[in-house]
Amino acid sequence: MRYIEPHGHMVSRVTDDYLDMVTAGCQAVCEPAFWAGYDRSSVNGFYDYFCQLTDYEPKRAARFGLPHFCWLCINPKESEDVKLAEEVVALIPKFLDRPSVLGIGEIGLNKNSRNELRVLEMHVDLAARHNQMILVHTPHLEDKLKGTRLIVDVIRSDKRIQLDRVIIDHVEEHTIKLVLDAGFWAGMTLYPESKCSPARAIDMLENYGTERLWMNSACDWGVSIPLNVPYTALEMKRRGWSAEDIDKVVYENPIKFLSQCKKFKLPKT
Ligand SMILES: [Zn+2]
Repeated sequence: MRYIEPHGHMVSRVTDDYLDMVTAGCQAVCEPAFWAGYDRSSVNGFYDYFCQLTDYEPKRAARFGLPHFCWLCINPKESEDVKLAEEVVALIPKFLDRPSVLGIGEIGLNKNSRNELRVLEMHVDLAARHNQMILVHTPHLEDKLKGTRLIVDVIRSDKRIQLDRVIIDHVEEHTIKLVLDAGFWAGMTLYPESKCSPARAIDMLENYGTERLWMNSACDWGVSIPLNVPYTALEMKRRGWSAEDIDKVVYENPIKFLSQCKKFKLPKT
């Protein structure tokens, strides 16, 4: 099996996870910037984090022959401090030319607050000004549908953004159609407790087809499973999917989306 992990928070994982992922067939991992589990106290914390994502973490992955890419932003969970967000958004362009940076993400909403919306708009403007791709986080549970609608409206109202260069992640049964119909890519996050289980993800693939969709494990510091993409591929096989169709979802689709950034390249095999 071969697969891409298009959304994994590797800074919160141990090195053994890299070994397991490569052993299972992982060909590349992409790491969106996210909340550290606590609020950072200044823009300097973000400077250090962006150095970790663009310098240290690719080296840690390279020890296992695994290409590591990343996305940069201030996460919606830290968007209540608009002044800090402005400082972080001003810092990001310094990192955009680094060879493993794919775009702006994971931006979006958490509690759908006014400040979060303002910071989302700042990030969309940043992406538009620098012609960057976008990776979007959608809120949890009862806030998800409303938050997804707000995000779709914000991005569609900026006519500089090409919608098929944007992926809206953490879709569930009640938001997937909205996202795909609007012209975006959609991501399904395979979590053991919340978000989407492997069985639910496969149900959605069987209901909505396999175009403009990917799956990821998110694998962060919470309860999560770094191998959930290959585990789900095995479940697809058990449910009668062909090897070719599984490969399209777990390998070809992420490559198709990510290759819209010229920096995303896999080593020749
Ligand atoms: Zn994430």
